Amino acid sequence: MTNTIHTDVCIVGAGPAGSFASLFLDKAGINCLLVDKAKFPRDKICGDGISGWVLGILNLLDEDILLRLSKQPFLLHSHGIRIVSPNFSELDLPFIDENMFKKGLPPGFIARRIDFDQFMIDEVKKRAGVKLLENCEVSGYSLLKDGTELSTGDGKTIHAKLVIFANGAGSKFMKDPGGIHKDPKFTMTGIKTYFNGVTGFHEQNYVELIFLKKLLPGYFWIFPLPGGMANVGVGLDQFRIRKKKINLKTMMLQAIETEPYLKERFKNAEQVTKVEAYGLPLWDKKRPISGHRFMLAGDTASLIDPVTGEGMGHAAITGMLAARQAVRSLNTQDFSATFMKQYDESVYDMIGKELAISSKILNFIKYPWLFNGVINKAAKSKTLQEKLSLAMTDLEVRKKLRKPSLYLKILMGR
Ligand SMILES: Cc1cc2nc3c(=O)[nH]c(=O)nc-3n(C[C@H](O)[C@H](O)[C@H](O)COP(=O)(O)OP(=O)(O)OC[C@H]3O[C@@H](n4cnc5c(N)ncnc54)[C@H](O)[C@@H]3O)c2cc1C
Repeated sequence: MTNTIHTDVCIVGAGPAGSFASLFLDKAGINCLLVDKAKFPRDKICGDGISGWVLGILNLLDEDILLRLSKQPFLLHSHGIRIVSPNFSELDLPFIDENMFKKGLPPGFIARRIDFDQFMIDEVKKRAGVKLLENCEVSGYSLLKDGTELSTGDGKTIHAKLVIFANGAGSKFMKDPGGIHKDPKFTMTGIKTYFNGVTGFHEQNYVELIFLKKLLPGYFWIFPLPGGMANVGVGLDQFRIRKKKINLKTMMLQAIETEPYLKERFKNAEQVTKVEAYGLPLWDKKRPISGHRFMLAGDTASLIDPVTGEGMGHAAITGMLAARQAVRSLNTQDFSATFMKQYDESVYDMIGKELAISSKILNFIKYPWLFNGVINKAAKSKTLQEKLSLAMTDLEVRKKLRKPSLYLKILMGR
């Protein structure tokens, strides 16, 4: 009995990047195979904050899915972000998204990944064009004359004309065939746990990034969830973790016990899950994310925003764009590395500028005095708050944030 599966497109990994890719392929009338080593529902270590990008891409895919999602009880609508400076000044910035607002939808939301990813898999299962293989780990990849061959841990062989590697931060395919070698300065380790009973949230469920001095440019986060739960965690780049010999778990728990700002809010809180860690491959430079007969999507393409740690939106975007490239390649039967570059271009056209700006902003976050000064001023100025809110969605406004002169002007009250 042969154990070989033939498919036009194989997607490795059924997280957000993979599930979005498969749904967009199905929408275009192309059958695909979606393979995941896990059996869903499965958890993914994450802050659970899901930005407007994900909603926007869902809207492009199918408005009905977006409406179904917005009614799920596991979802908490979030309307903004609270940034807390190293001297504990708070700056509240609402998310502005007119399109979602008109539809009565939130500009962002928070949902446990075990629930959100299962919701997406349920949508995948409704599509006849997507064959989902769970409990199936892809362990090997080779390029053939007329396609690619993938081997799996359970002895299957998959022949595909094209592969989308979307198997997350730990993917070995990121290096080979992807060619990405990560610098520890741009790989963050994040730890997270769930607490019940944390208090003091913004009434519109703002996500909170708390920039503790000893953790800069990393941060402590608290993201509220339905039912009085909260996702709590910290993240810092691996270079600093090693250099300063930081134990993230100890640092997080100590901060909760000793920092007055946190101590008060956690005084009746109870930790309900163990602390878990995972990597975040941060974007550091423009590099190829495709090659002959393959594309990298989501975390496997190393596209996490270096300031906010946001990767879900970029996973959704690359899933969609990889599916569009697969359609072009299948229509023309051109799977060459040169032709696949259209995928890279489409990704960088959509998020390249935003990522480049974020990596510049990272330089400013390193200095507590500058950070404190800017947040203090901004907390007192409605005009500045509006500008910063707009900068989260408007690229032209955001571009100004990378200029050091802007921060000096703010500090000098101009
Ligand atoms: C601590 C932490 C906090 C974070 N907080 C946020 C946040 O609040 N907001 C945000 O936007 N982003 C956040 N991120 C980033 C976000 O989690 C990722 O960007 C996002 O999950 C990327 O989606 P993905 O589909 O690329 O990969 P994943 O979600 O990792 O999915 C990859 C899938 O591939 C499967 N897989 C792995 N290897 C194989 C294999 N060999 N064969 C078959 N299947 C395989 C896995 O089982 C998994 O289902 C955080 C990350 C961490 C670590």
